[in-house]
Amino acid sequence: MRLSRYFLPVLKENPSEAQIVSHRLMLRAGMIKQQSAGIYSWLPLGFKVLRKIENIVHEEQARAGHIAIQMPILQGADLWRESGRYDDYGQEMLRMQDRHGRDMLYTPTAEEMVTDIFRSHVSSYKDLPLTLYQIQWKFRDEIRPRFGVMRGREFYMKDGYNFDLTKEDALHAYNRHLVSYLRTYERMGLQAIPMRADSGPIGGDDTHEFLVLAETGESEVFYDSAVTDLSFGDRVIDYDSVEQCQAVLEEFTSKYARTDETHDEAAFHERVPEERRRVARGIEVGQIFYFGTKYSDAMGAEVQGPDGKKVPVHMGSHGIGVSRLLGAIIEASHDDKGIIWPEGVTPFHVGIVNLKQGDDEADAACESLYKAFEAAGLEPLYDDRTERAGGKFATMDLIGLPWRITVGPRGLKNGVVELTCRRTGTSEELPPEQAIAKVVEIYSHH
Ligand code: ATP
Ligand code: MG
Repeated sequence: MRLSRYFLPVLKENPSEAQIVSHRLMLRAGMIKQQSAGIYSWLPLGFKVLRKIENIVHEEQARAGHIAIQMPILQGADLWRESGRYDDYGQEMLRMQDRHGRDMLYTPTAEEMVTDIFRSHVSSYKDLPLTLYQIQWKFRDEIRPRFGVMRGREFYMKDGYNFDLTKEDALHAYNRHLVSYLRTYERMGLQAIPMRADSGPIGGDDTHEFLVLAETGESEVFYDSAVTDLSFGDRVIDYDSVEQCQAVLEEFTSKYARTDETHDEAAFHERVPEERRRVARGIEVGQIFYFGTKYSDAMGAEVQGPDGKKVPVHMGSHGIGVSRLLGAIIEASHDDKGIIWPEGVTPFHVGIVNLKQGDDEADAACESLYKAFEAAGLEPLYDDRTERAGGKFATMDLIGLPWRITVGPRGLKNGVVELTCRRTGTSEELPPEQAIAKVVEIYSHH
């Protein structure tokens, strides 16, 4: 993309409505525009990162054997009456009527609808295990929407639902989700720690939340600092293997790590040596639940078991806050100049800054870099505007591309361009081909 032809409405001033850094930077970098309280338009740069995050989620869901569907945003009230949640959900559910006076709602989650799909089409244990998921807009009429996309009213969420014959099978699905989530967040350059949590209105016994540590997080968390040393890395897991998933779950959840709802001060002191006890804040970027037959009982979702008898299926649901993740990633990765995107989610792979637009040699060198990156399957953002160098650097730093190549007549005389790492701020002078090769090599791992 050439910046002169792009739509990147950056703000020079700090927007007064933004209380936290991620919200401020998303507005300043022209990623989102608020349309009503907690409701945003996604501008090109923000939309690009949203899609990157969404793609990682899809890829990791596929790896775990889960199957994508898409359910409607506007749902009839009847299914929700069957489960009892039409009355229970309260004011967070946005309700409306169609022209015939039928009660409708904007989906805050989709246990009822996916259970309805299941009961209409599955009747034998032979079709299990089954996990269906979607990535879809949700609406919750939050009492205090704030912090930009972190706590919106309309937000983008991955919600997945497993259907299993037995509790044991459903717990494997739970473990499998935990493992696949660890991998998903790590690909986004995030450390998200699974913490024992409270199940809230969804109901059920087993639940973990995934938290990204950040001072601006809304949850208070208590943990053993040893959990922050764990990393999933590039290990290869057989998601069908009960033992392998169980082993990962144990590795990542056996140390003390809890949100305030489940925190137990006595256990904290007993289990964690003083020097490793941490009290901090975190951003919830996902949650997994096992809730047994709660919805299948209420809605008659049964299958015929191996003995011919009908039994209700065991279920769980699993969510990732796709739009909230943009805020969480920025909270975890920025400096006073702007965002620092991890390679896995960056909107463009590399920025090209032309120090002397209009100079034949500099223009030609930038063009050839641009074409070389495109040929290598990467997306460069070329700042081809006739702005002064300082302004170009400020924009690149603000929007946070991990790598920048600076091209100017002086360097070109010596046959070099400058390659700069956004995270460390370090630069090196290299012949253009070597700069290209280095960037291409870095992205071959992402
Ligand atoms: P919270 O406790 O933050 O209100 P929740 O526990 O009600 O969230 P879940 O039902 O577990 O949310 O939804 C799955 C994920 O969706 C959450 O982990 C979170 O990342 C995201 N999410 C929930 N509510 C919002 C919101 N209002 N805005 C943006 N993302 C949200
Ligand atoms: Mg939650």
